[in-house]
Amino acid sequence: MNFYILTLFPDMVMAGLNTSIIGRAAKAGTIKIETVNIRDYSANKHQKVDDYPYGGGAGMLMQAQPVYDAWRSVADRIGRKPRCIYMTPQGKTFTQKEAKAFALEEELIFLCGHYEGIDQRVLEEIVTDYMSIGDYVLTGGELPAMVMVDAISRMVPGVLSNEESGSTESFEGNLLEYPQYSRPEEWNGRKVPEILLSGHHKNIEAWRRQQSILLTKERRPDLLEKAQLTDQERHWLEEELC
Ligand code: SAM
Repeated sequence: MNFYILTLFPDMVMAGLNTSIIGRAAKAGTIKIETVNIRDYSANKHQKVDDYPYGGGAGMLMQAQPVYDAWRSVADRIGRKPRCIYMTPQGKTFTQKEAKAFALEEELIFLCGHYEGIDQRVLEEIVTDYMSIGDYVLTGGELPAMVMVDAISRMVPGVLSNEESGSTESFEGNLLEYPQYSRPEEWNGRKVPEILLSGHHKNIEAWRRQQSILLTKERRPDLLEKAQLTDQERHWLEEELC
């Protein structure tokens, strides 16, 4: 999987993505992360990339030409029009479901806006997907792109080791993950639940499933409504909440 990130702040993006599990996957060649500095494509002798919006209003806009040329530098190399995601608060909210779907692509281009955003005309020309990481406004698209690259990379086969497997994590089957404990058995007067020390895998699995259901009910009832619970589990939950 190849990620191309069009940005005014390539150092910021690479500093965030070149570490830990994602950095390790990039070093191993399981994924490739490349930044393209939009400023390098400015036709302006001062490398300016922004200007005032027509019609007035607050702030500056990134201009179409440098964004388009930065995109072309990648698209020409790939040899076809790749999927290009514009990070914007006006986009579809990114979830684990989208992370899995995007992980099936061979290439993804991320376009990071800044200032008040980007000239509409170039967006219409190159963008295939408009994505947001939540209902709030950030100063730039770099953090959102990093969030998406991280979450998508984890879904690319070979990025997570077996021990780090994503298959039992939060959002699988619309449930949050169960609580977890490590050594020591007792810390600050708090003990690890007895069942986890029992060595009885079937019972541990059943306990974890119940904990997932309870936690999801408490913190994300909206998610639990979409979860596939058995009749027995629904009955148990009702009794548990009485
Ligand atoms: N004027 C824009 C609006 O009201 O929709 C907001 C522009 S924001 C200050 C600058 C850039 O940050 C955007 O072009 C986008 O790339 C990025 N950005 C800000 N919040 C975001 C979010 N929640 N999700 C994705 N990208 C975001």
